[in-house]
Amino acid sequence: MKVYNTLSRQKEEFVPLEAGKVKMYVCGPTVYNLIHIGNARPMMVFDTVRRYMEYKGFEVNFVSNFTDVDDKIIKKAVEEGISAQEVSQRYIEECKKDMAAMNVRPATTHPLATQEIGGMLEMISTLVDKGFAYAVEDGTVYFRTRKFKEYGKLSHKNLDDLQAGHRDIKVTGEDKEDSLDFVLWKPKKEGEPYWESPWCNGRPGWHIECSVMAKKYLGEEIDIHAGGEDLIFPHHENEIAQSEACNGKIFAKYWIHNGFLNIDNKKMSKSEGNFFTVREIGEKYDLQVLRFFMLSAHYRSPLNFSADLMEAAKNGLERILNAAQNLQHLQKNAVADMMTQEEAEIFAGSQAFVEKFERAMDDDFNTADAISAVFEFVKYCNTNVTEKGSRELLENLYQRLDGLCDVLGLILRKEEEILDEEIEKLIAERQAARKEKNFARADEIRDILLGKGIILEDTREGVKWKRA
Ligand code: AMP
Ligand code: ZN
Repeated sequence: MKVYNTLSRQKEEFVPLEAGKVKMYVCGPTVYNLIHIGNARPMMVFDTVRRYMEYKGFEVNFVSNFTDVDDKIIKKAVEEGISAQEVSQRYIEECKKDMAAMNVRPATTHPLATQEIGGMLEMISTLVDKGFAYAVEDGTVYFRTRKFKEYGKLSHKNLDDLQAGHRDIKVTGEDKEDSLDFVLWKPKKEGEPYWESPWCNGRPGWHIECSVMAKKYLGEEIDIHAGGEDLIFPHHENEIAQSEACNGKIFAKYWIHNGFLNIDNKKMSKSEGNFFTVREIGEKYDLQVLRFFMLSAHYRSPLNFSADLMEAAKNGLERILNAAQNLQHLQKNAVADMMTQEEAEIFAGSQAFVEKFERAMDDDFNTADAISAVFEFVKYCNTNVTEKGSRELLENLYQRLDGLCDVLGLILRKEEEILDEEIEKLIAERQAARKEKNFARADEIRDILLGKGIILEDTREGVKWKRA
């Protein structure tokens, strides 16, 4: 399997640190709003990477954070007259609903920055002790960028060029030693959430959060670190500097970045206002169509969103779903049970499409070519099966198609609907877990239900639920 590594700017053979296991960290969203479909691109892309790794037999430990303390969250909280925590909790819930609706599997762990402050203080202290960080008068702690000799290795930037750029925008009154130094810890402002620290009451910088959460949940050395390409600099460059200076080890072996989802050739972003939320798109389309649209392009290429391309994606997906339905229908009405010799050959012939699919995915997760292989497989099924086909052949072909689509996160068969009484039973179990203060189990149950499209609402009259 070959993976394009931003670090080397080359496709490299994927060799995990530990045989059979993959430790993967994906930078998650800052939660102050409903996510837009640009944010959804890394979610779908890296969920597909994870699925393919698992398909290949790797055990994947997949960690993706929520940044739940940030200027934008605080601003929103002030606007609404509620706490920052209420804002972040609300949008974490909304984000999880969107992920479930896009068939993005929950991470092995979804850490929250605000729950990991202890680890951040520890890492910052180590950096101070090692001379990689320093505190200034007001209690701000900065990373001493020039001391980390490899700074710039990910973004392929030269320190002196960076310095020249910085000089133009240098903010007067900043008391850092060097304009390249970045914040690890900053003092609180009036009304902001804060934590005590040896330097001042304050809160962490954004970059330190991911270094700490990756270390805690995956270890000092990880296989893959991923995110959108806008994170390469400065976020990921800074994460490397912090983690490697602190731990004395190479932080991540492979750095993978997705290209932008654009609209009229401009990056879709909240600040530009040129976005559609996942929720909005979900009102017009089944979100499988959005997923199919995203995976129709290579993850590193820019992708322009348009109604025409969504229509094309809808038609493409329908072709696959119709073929699957046809296989199921024929199977239900099949007269013969076992495959004939001729049918066994037909089934064996379909292996070529699996190989083509795997070759595409092995080449830096080329989902566009993988989808072509699925289309060829569908065509092969349509031309080779009739009502005379045996149950075994139809089932085998269906399973094969389902296996490939599952890697792409496309669902052929609607899951058996969860029954009302099962939902009530799980809700009762969740209430019992909460009573015992077993919040981990309570959250787990909520996520299980969410995965089945059941949304819980805690109201004054008790727990209410509805189907998504
Ligand atoms: P943010 O909430 O802006 O920090 O973004 C969360 C994730 O979405 C990051 O990995 C970003 O790189 C990614 N992202 C944001 N906008 C886009 C876009 N238009 N296209 C692709 N990825 C994006
Ligand atoms: Zn990050």
